[in-house]
Amino acid sequence: MTITVKKNLVSEAKYGLKCPNAMTAQYITIHNTANDASAANEISYMINNTNSTSFHFAVDDKEVRQGIPTNRNAWHTGDGTNGTGNRKSIGVEICYSKSGGAKYKAAEKLAIKFVAQLLKERGWGIDRVRKHQDWNGKYCPHRILSEGRWDKVKAAIEKELKALGGKASSGKTSTAKKKTTSSSKKRTSYALPSGIYKVKSPMMKGASVTQIQKALAALYFYPNKGAKNNGIDGVYGPKTANAVKRFQLMHGLSADGIYGPKTKVKLDTLLK
Ligand SMILES: [Zn+2]
Repeated sequence: MTITVKKNLVSEAKYGLKCPNAMTAQYITIHNTANDASAANEISYMINNTNSTSFHFAVDDKEVRQGIPTNRNAWHTGDGTNGTGNRKSIGVEICYSKSGGAKYKAAEKLAIKFVAQLLKERGWGIDRVRKHQDWNGKYCPHRILSEGRWDKVKAAIEKELKALGGKASSGKTSTAKKKTTSSSKKRTSYALPSGIYKVKSPMMKGASVTQIQKALAALYFYPNKGAKNNGIDGVYGPKTANAVKRFQLMHGLSADGIYGPKTKVKLDTLLK
């Protein structure tokens, strides 16, 4: 049976914040909300708040709600302004993952069916399904990961897809394969400093600045992409400040290019 999606789409006035780019999706990314709110509440909160964070669908134990059109990008994978996750993937949040239990289980079950339906509609195979962690290393979908069930969830989607008469694979797996390889790289931890770092004269420099730069680069906000070592030089100059600014903008922080406690917390959360 086809799952009906209830739409509560973001207003066009907020496209600039929530979904500025047209998108031809190539992947579906699965998340856990790490919250205990319903799909309706997740979507209404997301479309009404002033953070850039956004996602296309939220699924709970009863229904699927949509907040962003699938032909627009959403900011849900933390892989930067031009990251493939953010620019080429449809974000599906599974609700009630914080506390788990029966409601979460039912939500996950419905999400599995819904993702299979999305794949079928597009003629895609299971190779198009990603977890948030694949894009930027964030421990998400946290409940599926902590319970060691990612492969099981994927297998369940594949089974549903087969039942719907869908394809086993999309045939175009070269990019998909490459992504899988790069996403499996191990994350390192960063000793982010607690002070305030900003552009001043003389410029602030040293190992703690290097840590900030490395953390930004790990999330694809390179201080100077393409430059030697991507601009990781231990100097808090305008380019590093600009990377901090882009990071802040993407994460609902005030975008002043100054690294302080709030930016540290956000970086730590995304990298843990
Ligand atoms: Zn996520």
